[in-house]
Amino acid sequence: MNRLWSPCIHELMPYVPGEQPKIPNLIKLNTNENPYGPSPSVLTALNGEVGSGLRLYPDPDASKLKQAIASYYHVSPSEVFVGNGSDEVLAHAFHAFFIQDQPILFPDITYSFYPVYCRLYGITFTTVALDRDMGIRVNDYQRPCGGIVFANPNAPTGIPLSLLEIETVVRAHPDRVVLIDEAYVDFGAQTAVPLVKTYPNLLIVQTFSKSRSLAGLRVGFAVGHASLIEGLERVKNSFNSYPLDKLAIAGAVAALEDEDYFQEKRALVMRTRDLLARQLEAMGFLVCPSATNFLFVRHPDHDAASLASALRACAILVRHFRQPEIENYLRISIGTEAECSSLQVALVTILNTA
Ligand code: PMP
Repeated sequence: MNRLWSPCIHELMPYVPGEQPKIPNLIKLNTNENPYGPSPSVLTALNGEVGSGLRLYPDPDASKLKQAIASYYHVSPSEVFVGNGSDEVLAHAFHAFFIQDQPILFPDITYSFYPVYCRLYGITFTTVALDRDMGIRVNDYQRPCGGIVFANPNAPTGIPLSLLEIETVVRAHPDRVVLIDEAYVDFGAQTAVPLVKTYPNLLIVQTFSKSRSLAGLRVGFAVGHASLIEGLERVKNSFNSYPLDKLAIAGAVAALEDEDYFQEKRALVMRTRDLLARQLEAMGFLVCPSATNFLFVRHPDHDAASLASALRACAILVRHFRQPEIENYLRISIGTEAECSSLQVALVTILNTA
């Protein structure tokens, strides 16, 4: 009954998330989840919240969480926006800032949700090629546009930009929003949050899904000048008054408060990543320098799609993108040390028998 749809729905090309299959004993390295559970204090906070009256609506402003994020990043709560995962925060930001008279710019290889939001909101966009080493060349973004989006570190390459490079872009476009999607920033890159005080056109988006291990709770946030946040609030309050439920608010606050656990687990993920990178290089893989919880790799002698299906036959899932420029790459999320060692053993066997 597609004829009953609003006409514009025919043109949408929805995002396809990585699989969440129910295969027993699966080693799941395909969606950049954190292999370690959240801080135990998150679970205590969630239990406390369950007992405290789910019959009531949550705080529509999630003020406790905004306050906690504001203290953590030394900004004011009026410079913080929260949403149901950073995907929702990104969607609202595209809606609030990027419907302009010129196309927005983002790299041709980046988070594949960006063009999806553009189609949803009728935003025109131009993609900019990466350099030969899969890096973003910031000089390519010094031209008139409706706004700019970078994932920093970029996804799926894992390669970070420096704060100086980001600042060059933000400074060149004072009348456009420059959005930095820092979903993976805690795994080795530098956050641009401190630049928000100087640049009212800079919006930073982050998530609790990766470094804080709460992908299942769906909490994301943005930090930016109060007038950008006000724009986001206008969109949010025209869409859903309660995007964060009571559990999400309580769990995210508890996660932010357990700094020791956060530091310990992100350091462990980074150590495991660096070890796996060296092991993959020893097998002949070319590994992009990663500041994330995943590695983007290719093997000069082996086709990535076949490697992904051979790994799948060993119950190990990694991500392969059917996009021409990167069809020979695999994106491998960092699992526990044991999971990464199983991946290594499986790859050695696959490469030797192929
Ligand atoms: N940005 C990037 C670059 C991502 O890879 C992801 C995870 N798919 C997100 C944003 C969204 O994460 P979440 O909605 O879980 O916060």
